[in-house]
Amino acid sequence: MSEPNVYRLNSKFVAQSTEEWLTKRGVTKEQIGQLVMLLQKDYFPELTLAECVASVERVLSKREVQNAILTGIQLDLLAEEGKLLPPLQDMIKYDEGLYGCDEILALSIVNVYGSIGFTNFGYIDKFKPGVLKKLNDKSSGQIHTFLDDIVGAIAAAASSRLAHRKQAEREAVQEALDEGGASG
Ligand SMILES: [Mg+2]
Repeated sequence: MSEPNVYRLNSKFVAQSTEEWLTKRGVTKEQIGQLVMLLQKDYFPELTLAECVASVERVLSKREVQNAILTGIQLDLLAEEGKLLPPLQDMIKYDEGLYGCDEILALSIVNVYGSIGFTNFGYIDKFKPGVLKKLNDKSSGQIHTFLDDIVGAIAAAASSRLAHRKQAEREAVQEALDEGGASG
């Protein structure tokens, strides 16, 4: 017997909506990939943009990450429409310096991939390179108080993920070399 009023989560719909909303708010995976490149190219000179974008895609596939993105974009949109309660409306509209919930929400993304993510997030939040500069441009009429931190956090998480995997690759190669040397 079917229960018409029972909520059922549709994970595919959540993932798809997240992608659509990022695009609608002017953020592409390539732009986030470029941030990853910026964060990691000194450590891994052979790194390609395609690898960076692939890492961003893996981060975006996580439900915790999708939840943070949808929540943040929703709050930005409500602020743009003037629909939040005062004083929250103005705090988010003007990206008030002592309002830190945008960073806290973004940290839920960074948390997924461990501590290197924190360092990268701090760095990128300070310098706001690439797409982050555009999101921070207050003259656009759009409000991205939450999204700028979220995009920085996705880049930081994707960097962290990449760094761990690259290190594992290096160690595997070194081990193979050592074994070859030992037997030869
Ligand atoms: Mg912010």
